[in-house]
Amino acid sequence: MALLSCTIAAFGAAPAGAADHVHADPGGDAKGRLDLIGASLVQDGPGLTLTMITSGHIPAASLPDGQRGTLCAAFAWGDPSAARRRLCVVSQADGLIVHDNTLSPTTGKITGQRTRSGLVTQSGPRLSIALDPQALEIPLGALRWNVRSTWHRGADCVNTAPATTTTRTGAIAAAGLDQGLGCVDTLPDSGTFAGRVSRAIAAGCLPSSGQVFNGPRARKVVALTFDDGPSTFTPSYVKILAANNARATFFQIGQQVLGQGAIERAILAGGNAIGNHTWNHANVSGGGGAAQSQISRTSATLSSVTGGYKPCIFRPPYGATSSSLVSVSSGLGLKSILWDVDTNDWQLPGMAAIISRAVGGARSGSIILMHDGGGPRGGTQAAIAPIIRQLRAKGYGFVTVPQLLGLKDRWRYSNS
Ligand code: ZN
Repeated sequence: MALLSCTIAAFGAAPAGAADHVHADPGGDAKGRLDLIGASLVQDGPGLTLTMITSGHIPAASLPDGQRGTLCAAFAWGDPSAARRRLCVVSQADGLIVHDNTLSPTTGKITGQRTRSGLVTQSGPRLSIALDPQALEIPLGALRWNVRSTWHRGADCVNTAPATTTTRTGAIAAAGLDQGLGCVDTLPDSGTFAGRVSRAIAAGCLPSSGQVFNGPRARKVVALTFDDGPSTFTPSYVKILAANNARATFFQIGQQVLGQGAIERAILAGGNAIGNHTWNHANVSGGGGAAQSQISRTSATLSSVTGGYKPCIFRPPYGATSSSLVSVSSGLGLKSILWDVDTNDWQLPGMAAIISRAVGGARSGSIILMHDGGGPRGGTQAAIAPIIRQLRAKGYGFVTVPQLLGLKDRWRYSNS
C-alpha cells in the first residue's frame, strides 16, 4: 500500500537544525479522506513534534471523533515486539484533543487511556502533536514509530479492502483497532521508522536583534537580572534561586568568566540564562570595532567554558547605549537588554531598600536590575529570597529574559 520513498537516516542523529524530514507516502494509495502522504518526527529541545500529513486539508470537525475512524501514531521502544504508546488525534466540540493510550507490550490492547488537550495544531493538511517524552514515559534512546489512519467504508473509502484482511503495521500492532473499518493507510507500509529521543542541553538562544527595556505587559511575569559576575557571590545566588524555584538572567563580564566554567554550568543547570556584558565592563556606546571586539570575545569565551552555550542577549555596561551600539550587537545576533526597574543595589542601600525597590517597581513584563558582581553583594544576596516571595505573593512568576521576550531556544543534543 504505502511506498517509503526516502531513507530515515537523517532523523535522530542530529536533530539540532535538522530539516523537518518528511517520510513520504504517495497520495492516493488509500483513497479516502485520511489518505496519509507523509509523516515526520522531529526533536526540538526536550520535546518531540510528530506531524501527520493527509492528502488534503480536512476540516477539524470532520476529523475522527473516536467513532468514525482514527488518526494515530504509535511508539515502541525496548523489546522489538512491544507496542507501548498510541496517540490518536480526536475531534471534539471544543477542538482537537489526543487520546493517549498505553498498550500492552504483549497483546497490543489498551491498558490505560488519558485525554490530553492543547497538544495538537493543524495547518492545512498538516496535523502536529507536541510530545513530552517524559510525560509519556518514553525513555531517552532509540524508539520506533509509525502512523496509521483508519476510516469507515463509504463514499470516502474507495479502497474497500475487507477489514478482516487489513494488514497490520508490523512491529506495532494495534489489536482491535480495525474492527468494522474498511480503509486503512499506514506509514511505513510495514514495520516502523527508527527514531531517537536525545538528551537536550540548553545552548542559549537563536540570533536576535534590537533593544528593549521590558517585556510584554500582558503576562504577569518578571525577569530578575544580575550584572557584573561571575563573582564569589554567584554560586549562592544560583542556590537561592533554585531553593525558591525561580529563574533569573546573569549578564556576565567576559574576563571574569575565564576559568569559571563550573559556575557558568551551575547557572545553566538551574534553568537560568546567561547574557553578554562585554569583556571588561567598558563603556561601548561608541559602537564600532571596539564594541564588536568586547562583545564577540565575551560570547566566544562563554561558549568555550560552557561547552557550546551561545547567548542572544547583551546588556551595555552603565546602560550606556546608542543606535550604533545596537547595530553592532544586533549584527552579532544579540538583542540589547536594558531594564525598567532599577534597585540601585550597587550603591549598597541595604537589603530592605533593595527589596522595596524591586517589589514596589515591578509590573507585568518588568526587567529588574540587580548585581552579583562588582562589589560586596551581601545586601542583594539577602534580598533575593524576600523579593521572590513578595512578588510571588502578588501573583508574579519568574522567567529568564529570553523567555520573557519569547526568544527561541538553542539546544544541543547528546546521545550519551
Ligand atoms: Zn554592569
